[in-house]
Amino acid sequence: MLQSILSNLAIILLLHLIMSMIMLQREKLSTFTFRSLTILLMSASVITMFYLPIRFDNYWVDMRFIPLVFFAYFYGWKIAIPALFIASFWRFLMGGDGMAPGIIFGMVGPTLLALAFHSRLETEKKYFEKLSIIIGCWLISDVPIIFLIPNGLEIFKDIALIRVMSFVATSFIWYIFIIQNRQLHILHKKLIKLAGEDPLTKLLNKRTFFENIDDKVKQIKPNHYIAMIDIDHFKEINDTYGHLAGDKIITDVATILKKYENDTVQIGRYGGEEFILYIGSATNTSAKELIKKIHEDIQSHEFKMDDYEPLRLTVSIGLAILEKNSTLLHTVNKADINLYMAKKSGRNRLICS
Ligand code: GH3
Ligand code: MG
Ligand code: MG
Repeated sequence: MLQSILSNLAIILLLHLIMSMIMLQREKLSTFTFRSLTILLMSASVITMFYLPIRFDNYWVDMRFIPLVFFAYFYGWKIAIPALFIASFWRFLMGGDGMAPGIIFGMVGPTLLALAFHSRLETEKKYFEKLSIIIGCWLISDVPIIFLIPNGLEIFKDIALIRVMSFVATSFIWYIFIIQNRQLHILHKKLIKLAGEDPLTKLLNKRTFFENIDDKVKQIKPNHYIAMIDIDHFKEINDTYGHLAGDKIITDVATILKKYENDTVQIGRYGGEEFILYIGSATNTSAKELIKKIHEDIQSHEFKMDDYEPLRLTVSIGLAILEKNSTLLHTVNKADINLYMAKKSGRNRLICS
């Protein structure tokens, strides 16, 4: 019995190890690839357990429901149901007396029970509820022994304690690993986000903006535009209303700009009160139209101030197209020169080349 439990536990831990490696690559995988890999892994681990059972008179036991229950609980039906189907079909082909009860009570029942609780996954502290799911699955899986085989009650009594303990212990070990991994994954995502964004405006910072856009312009599709936007006479705002009010204005302008962000428009904070815009897959006319719209939007906005009347402000904008065989850096430089020209020729205008 102990040997069977340990070999089943080894499969579960191996499954966890491979799953952790898949999760590390999660962002690079398409949803289809991720789901397919997970379904295959889950079915393979359940099927492997069919071959590592322990025999009690005419009854074979293993821990097949543990991967099914965990995946159903953590990932929902899109992964659990196909894997349940594959593993059940395999068990069906193996045949034998225990085939039907093994599928119904050992797999389908516990998986459905765990699926019913999937939506409550985020209630992380409900340990009693999680323990109850495992006990419930054990009952669905093992109680039928009493009715299905001649000396079922005896066998059930013989194995009940060690079965329930092994399920609870295995689930506990696996749960701790999964939770730790999930926390690491969340932390990793948070770090990537924090490292990539400007703390004041939550726009992309200069480094991440350049990394993202460099990837886009290398995709060879033509018609990439860069715009540099700088608030006019911002020093006066700082001097009159204070730096905190200045910060609020910068954040408000960022909020206006964020409205225009989509697959082809990306916005970053270049520094100070200067913003950078990338417009992809556009024509000269559509890029200019968009910039004009943004310009008017900022110009017509009333910036609310704590102790003062609402404020209006203007911006100057330099727009440049990324020429054939040119670089992103060169285009940014061109947009910057155009911005300088806009400032020089009186501010509150758009200059493009
Ligand atoms: P211009 O029309 O020529 O752009 O005039 P300007 O006054 O806006 O001049 P400039 O762009 O050179 O000034 C930018 C000012 O923005 C200088 C700096 O004190 C201020 N600044 C830069 N970063 C921040 C910030 O994060 N918060 C605040 N409140 N002020 C900032
Ligand atoms: Mg300025
Ligand atoms: Mg400036």
